Amino acid sequence: MTNYLMSDDSFMVSSVYKPKLNYRIFLFIRDQQEAQELTGQISAFGYQINQFTKSDDLISALRWSLPNAILVFVDSKTLSFEDYEDLAQKLKKQSNNLPLIIISAEDNFDLRLRVVRAGGSAFFTHPVDISTLIGSLDEFANPAPTIPNRILIIDDVLSQASFYAMHLEKVGMQTRIVTDPRQMIQPMIEFNPDLILLDMYLPDCNGIELARMIRQMENFVSVPIVFLSAETDRERQLAALMMGADDFLIKPVKPEHLIASVTSRIERYRKLRSLMIYDGLTNLLNHTTIKERLVKELLRSERDKQPLSFAMIDLDHFKNVNDRYGHSAGDRVLKSLARLLKQRLRRTDLIGRYGGEEFSIIFPNTTAAEAASVVDKLRESFARLHHLGPEGVFTVTFSAGIASFPQFKSAIAISNAADRALYQAKEKGRNRISVI
Ligand code: GH3
Ligand code: MG
Ligand code: MG
Repeated sequence: MTNYLMSDDSFMVSSVYKPKLNYRIFLFIRDQQEAQELTGQISAFGYQINQFTKSDDLISALRWSLPNAILVFVDSKTLSFEDYEDLAQKLKKQSNNLPLIIISAEDNFDLRLRVVRAGGSAFFTHPVDISTLIGSLDEFANPAPTIPNRILIIDDVLSQASFYAMHLEKVGMQTRIVTDPRQMIQPMIEFNPDLILLDMYLPDCNGIELARMIRQMENFVSVPIVFLSAETDRERQLAALMMGADDFLIKPVKPEHLIASVTSRIERYRKLRSLMIYDGLTNLLNHTTIKERLVKELLRSERDKQPLSFAMIDLDHFKNVNDRYGHSAGDRVLKSLARLLKQRLRRTDLIGRYGGEEFSIIFPNTTAAEAASVVDKLRESFARLHHLGPEGVFTVTFSAGIASFPQFKSAIAISNAADRALYQAKEKGRNRISVI
């Protein structure tokens, strides 16, 4: 008989807040206590879990639906390595390349080798750090999409521009051609290029003037500009360098040279841009960005006559966590909260790391009451998560304060109000939320 154990629905948020992910894990495990533990921890991150105790049941379930990954818990008492190998063997016959993740009570070279040989995709030792495990599940379930590089080509000679475009598109990039510089602004805003390929010689103005104009547009202050220039054009090259040209390509341009120059510059640009926007530890929006976004989102709410809520979250007694379990365990707690927020909130909600152990969330089109219900469920889920310390597992809680538009109109007013609410929640005993 198939032993299905659905994930606990009480972990799910209200209907307005359907989890954006519909990920499913097949869990092959016999130890009941461990099964409950893992199911609770993993489903808090929005994963649905089906439990199996026999490999045959798991294999037949695969005929009806495919999970995003299969997780196997191996220990010497209830489910042996031979059981795992048996399952792996059967899976191979089905040839559906599902990620197979092992959590093992033991750890040694031979076991790891057997796991690799039987086609295991990842190996974790028990007790597993939940944030790392979820990171791995996320990667398998939802590999980061590769976003094609977007190149805007500004060249008055269409045949030349098309030649560049053809070669760039051959290697998977997206291009847009502008032959009349007067028409460049609209395509720039719509296309939002990662790099601009700019001819130095244009009919009414030269490339350097155009580059200067581009730099004066707020969104394109740092977009890489690569000039297409003639060999003889030393003076202009120097002038272009002065205003921050990223590269010159001498005409006629060799396609390999063009692709190499464009690719390396875009990589660096994207990395820099992400450093400017995201917090390094949690990958959430950083302080500056979340504050900027709050201003923008408030303007939008005002225009659309929609509510907006802002939540400030602060971990409780986090100094003690660091003192007792060490700074790196503390960092892992921060990461798992970040992950939980990302998994459980809507795509339109903006999540930031406001400071050390403070987080903030912008909920567009959401009343204070709706936001409060969501944050409170997050609070409950988070309090149930087990974090891994040097001497076993521990739990952490957070407090939150919520304020909303239109009651508070400006970014400063709303964040100050959320801060006051947070202070109230702390005063009242922590591990709770407060709405102003
Ligand atoms: P409260 O419940 O009143 O918020 O108490 P608390 O201990 O959380 O507050 P307090 O502001 O006194 O301490 C915050 C602690 O957060 C101090 C600092 O060690 C820790 N912290 C801040 N940033 C980081 C970080 O990036 N990593 C780790 N591990 N700890 C951090
Ligand atoms: Mg704090
Ligand atoms: Mg704190």
